[in-house]
Amino acid sequence: MAKQLVEQITNMDEDFAQWYTDVVTKAELIDYSSVRGSMIIRPYGYAIWENIKASLDQEIKDTGHENVYMPLLIPESLLQKEKDHIKGFAPEVAWVTHGGDEKLAERLCIRPTSEVLFAEHYKNIIHSYRDLPKLYNQWSNVVRWEKTTRPFLRTLEFLWQEGHTCHETEDEAQKETLKMLDVYADICERVLAIPVVKGKKTEKEKFAGAKSTYTIESLMHDGKALQSGTSHNFGTGFAETFGIEFLNREGKLEPVQQTSWGFTTRIIGAMIMVHGDDKGLVLPPAIAPIQVLIVPIAQHKEGVLDAAYEVHHSLQTSLRVSIDASDKKPGWKFNESEMKGIPIRLEIGPKDIENEKVVLVRRDTGEKIDVKNHEIETAIERLLQKIQSSLYEKALEHRLTKTTVAVNMDEFKDNLIQVGGFIKAMWCGDQACEDQIKDQTQATSRCIPFEEKGISVTCVYCGRAAKELVYWAKAY
Ligand SMILES: [Zn+2]
Repeated sequence: MAKQLVEQITNMDEDFAQWYTDVVTKAELIDYSSVRGSMIIRPYGYAIWENIKASLDQEIKDTGHENVYMPLLIPESLLQKEKDHIKGFAPEVAWVTHGGDEKLAERLCIRPTSEVLFAEHYKNIIHSYRDLPKLYNQWSNVVRWEKTTRPFLRTLEFLWQEGHTCHETEDEAQKETLKMLDVYADICERVLAIPVVKGKKTEKEKFAGAKSTYTIESLMHDGKALQSGTSHNFGTGFAETFGIEFLNREGKLEPVQQTSWGFTTRIIGAMIMVHGDDKGLVLPPAIAPIQVLIVPIAQHKEGVLDAAYEVHHSLQTSLRVSIDASDKKPGWKFNESEMKGIPIRLEIGPKDIENEKVVLVRRDTGEKIDVKNHEIETAIERLLQKIQSSLYEKALEHRLTKTTVAVNMDEFKDNLIQVGGFIKAMWCGDQACEDQIKDQTQATSRCIPFEEKGISVTCVYCGRAAKELVYWAKAY
């Protein structure tokens, strides 16, 4: 009975996709809904999102941004205005054609993203350099009609934040674009313990309508990459199309410089695939809805439950702590807490009470630590920090082990089969080579990394002079 929960999960190295599906359902993060590709985010999954959201929202506000809310529906004519943008999103747009029984004069789309809504609004409220910068952010849901879907990673509807800003100068917009990329990298690395590679997208991979797109890329347990957050410099593209102009300091009209940046519930999928193991989820303490689960041992014996509740009470103010005093067997409770990725399990039984101690069990390593009663709180706080940093270290180690270098296509293909993961290789800048690499290997260009030296002077595909170092990988 006690083993049953664990036996229901597929071994991750046998079938990673099935393992992922098992974890998201058995750990009670999601349930499927009756619309294909839509998911119900259950309380435990939503609590994780709320914790991520709280950390990111704080950083967004600390960097001077304000939250706003835009409508869900976009008139077709408005969406059509920016040609590259509509070309990029058209295949994924869901349309509203009727209001009740009445056919609408103009179709309305359910926002796949809100650039055009922000653009229309900015045109109305920005007139002078005194109105700048405008630093807006929105938390919302969006809909993209994806063909193949997977919980968190690709769903018809997902939750996210989208920042949209307007600036006086090109330089200011570029600084904003990179500042928000840094915010995303910080959330990933410090809060989610996911190491990222920061860089620029190639022209082929950049956002529809952007001048340039920057990304943070992370590597999953199975060696596939996942785009974990993007920040775009729009230049004056949208501003010129939508007529968002301001009187500059010289009294002349000019278009504003814009940025946009987004971070989504997708990151929960990344967190599962970076840290999880064969027992289920492994959650970073910073976002774990329950950081410590207290499990009373032999709880029918006198004094055990009282002692467990006493510990619960003493930890409640500083930590997210819960107690499982149900009549399930301890073994079952252990498995359940492992499945849910709770960072620390605290066991307390008659012998512990006699010895004035408790036992702490780390989810990530399984290590058991005896702690004297008067030291419980400090020991837990220290251990949570240790778990947080060792999850990061472990993920970084994994990424470095799975990052290789290739100077020709034989090496490239060989590395992809033998190691998987990121391949660093030089590129001439020609999209034809990028397309060929994708056709032949299914690996796509992930980013042109900041601050990395070149590794050879010729393009890995065509042998002509190389312009950029690129991280390539198969990706989610
Ligand atoms: Zn080339």
